[in-house]
Amino acid sequence: MKNVWQRMRWLAVCLMIVCGMTAAQASDSGPSTQDEQGVIKLTFLGTGAPRPSEKRSGPAILVEAGPHRFLVDAGSGAREQMFRSGGWELITGLDTILITHLHYDHMIDVPDIAMTGWMYGRRVPMTVYGPKGTKDMSRHFMKALQWDLDMRRLVGIPMEGSNIVAHDIKPGVILDKDGLKITAFEVEHMPIDAETEEPLPFYGQTLGFRVDYKGRSVVFSGDTRSTPKSQLLVHGKDVDVMVHEVQVPSPGDSKEAKLANMSLSVHTTPAQAGYIFQQTKPRMAVYSHIIPPDTTGEQLVAETKPYYQGPVTTAEDFMTITIGAGIVIGEQARSGTHVFEKSSVVKD
Ligand SMILES: [Zn+2]
Ligand SMILES: [Zn+2]
Repeated sequence: MKNVWQRMRWLAVCLMIVCGMTAAQASDSGPSTQDEQGVIKLTFLGTGAPRPSEKRSGPAILVEAGPHRFLVDAGSGAREQMFRSGGWELITGLDTILITHLHYDHMIDVPDIAMTGWMYGRRVPMTVYGPKGTKDMSRHFMKALQWDLDMRRLVGIPMEGSNIVAHDIKPGVILDKDGLKITAFEVEHMPIDAETEEPLPFYGQTLGFRVDYKGRSVVFSGDTRSTPKSQLLVHGKDVDVMVHEVQVPSPGDSKEAKLANMSLSVHTTPAQAGYIFQQTKPRMAVYSHIIPPDTTGEQLVAETKPYYQGPVTTAEDFMTITIGAGIVIGEQARSGTHVFEKSSVVKD
């Protein structure tokens, strides 16, 4: 573990040098306290995709802006990454999850996070926003949990906060409250015929999100292929930080390479992402949801550079990005309480 953290620190220092910042600016220990100036902090809990990886957990990004705190996606391992990052306080204190779409790598940890947070102290329901189908998904999760919940009710566990309140959202402003505005927009991740590129008839929708808070902004691409019609070109224009998914084609014609490359039709290569960055000109572009998970940051940046020469960063698990007057890349210090008996998270 130590080596991982050492590598992270080294990486963060390198990136700060690239961005013209000093190591002192990056010391980073928990939520920002500078909300009156407008600061958004991102903590990359998971930067991978469906394929298991020792380095990249399933997609999940913690967003903190003043008093607001929520997850964008809850992929496999998100609960453990939350605990490592923010201890019991984060597990029991988080009550909002935004889901970009219903592929399992983006939502499989919703019930785990909802149940664990409730059982150990949260007394409000878990609220989940996602595209059409999110309400159904949540109802099915609750159905699957029925035996567990019934038994806990029987033995006297307080049930308040044990449910999931889900909202099927449409493109548009989904929240505008206390300085925080969240806008959902459609992205191009629905199935297409790989040869003709014509859409295959299928239900539902896939979303990206733009978050604005007191003059700072971040856009999450969700999973998306990239075309000149991409809504990212509209909602990502002049954004502070654009977090974009990426897939590098796997070489060779092994069965594994062929299976991996099947998804290229609904994902974005570094060259295509470079086009999006060039058009939108974010203050910083960031890759996350990285396919394959062992792709290096150096490789992604090298493949992007011919198409975009601005700042590009590759997120790693537990990397933080603090968006204020400057954009500071750091590493999430382990915060919160990790001993349950000393956590004081259980409410009456
Ligand atoms: Zn995905
Ligand atoms: Zn997907």
